[in-house]
Amino acid sequence: MKSGSPEVLEWRRDPITGVWVIIAPQRSQRPYEFEVELEQGQNYPCVFCEGMESCTPEEAFCLRNEDGKWQVRVFPNKFPALGRREKLFWEKEGLFYERMGGFGVHEVIVETPEHYLSFVDFPVEQLERVVYTYRERMKFWGQEERLRYCLIFKNQGMQAGASMFHPHSQLIATPVIPKRVEEELALARDFYSRERRCVFCALLEEELKMEKRLIFKNEYFVALVPYAARFSYEVWILPLEHCAYFTELEQLSSFAEILKLVLQALAEALGKPVFNFVLHVAPYRRESTDEDCRWVYHWHLEIIPFPVRMAGFEWGTGFYINPVIPENAASVLRKLIDIRVGESCGRH
Ligand SMILES: [Zn+2]
Ligand SMILES: [Zn+2]
Repeated sequence: MKSGSPEVLEWRRDPITGVWVIIAPQRSQRPYEFEVELEQGQNYPCVFCEGMESCTPEEAFCLRNEDGKWQVRVFPNKFPALGRREKLFWEKEGLFYERMGGFGVHEVIVETPEHYLSFVDFPVEQLERVVYTYRERMKFWGQEERLRYCLIFKNQGMQAGASMFHPHSQLIATPVIPKRVEEELALARDFYSRERRCVFCALLEEELKMEKRLIFKNEYFVALVPYAARFSYEVWILPLEHCAYFTELEQLSSFAEILKLVLQALAEALGKPVFNFVLHVAPYRRESTDEDCRWVYHWHLEIIPFPVRMAGFEWGTGFYINPVIPENAASVLRKLIDIRVGESCGRH
């Protein structure tokens, strides 16, 4: 294969850390909008806008209103990190190097036809359509046996790594389970084998008892600042009832409601809606692996506002330094939400 050709996509495994790295040279050809323009959304209309549909790769999924206008649109990423048509070969090189073909899925989920509407300001109904789309795409790719995992994430704002201003999130489905998820799974399995219960359910029970890191609770979900939050104002949203798979989520409007409240509170507390969020779910269930994470894992959304660039210390150690006491962050966010919704439908 010629270097730089679109076919060059591969996975390489680091023999020391076990981390899989995606080698995707064409990602460097992505058309970054100029930083100032991106910040202000001046490139209007962009290729994600209404009327520009012919400029995107072929649509894979779409939600329309009664007038036939699209409200959420999904298509393959034009500059994918992984390719649907790549072969899933595996080979060894030399003593211990391993590589695989860059097989996988990389999709863009355009969350609204409106260029200037910020995700934080979406009406709850629109957020509900977005999370519905997440669920349906995750289900869809679950049918592809070679895929083991599906990750949905959003980079909001240039500082968070977005390369397009227009509100969108991304889906990446991979033939290997991400290391971060593997680590969570290993600890969750360990806890389960000792206690015969899900570690996230146990965590929820503790947090509901202690209350000091709770931000908000509605009928089906809890938002909290984790005990050992890695980043300032890191927030997790978890379903109250045990559930490993986001694909089984039925309470879409309840999830959209709590997501909106948390993002609004974060934007208010920090002055600017800049964040990343990542949906952590159990790996797809596969016959070949006979592994069932149904009772062991508990899906959750991790929100990281103002993501800091990893610096030497973090790279070197895997430790994090968080300058904000988690209980204080929770208290600030809790108060902001309380003001918004009123005490009547608060946490108790
Ligand atoms: Zn646009
Ligand atoms: Zn659980």
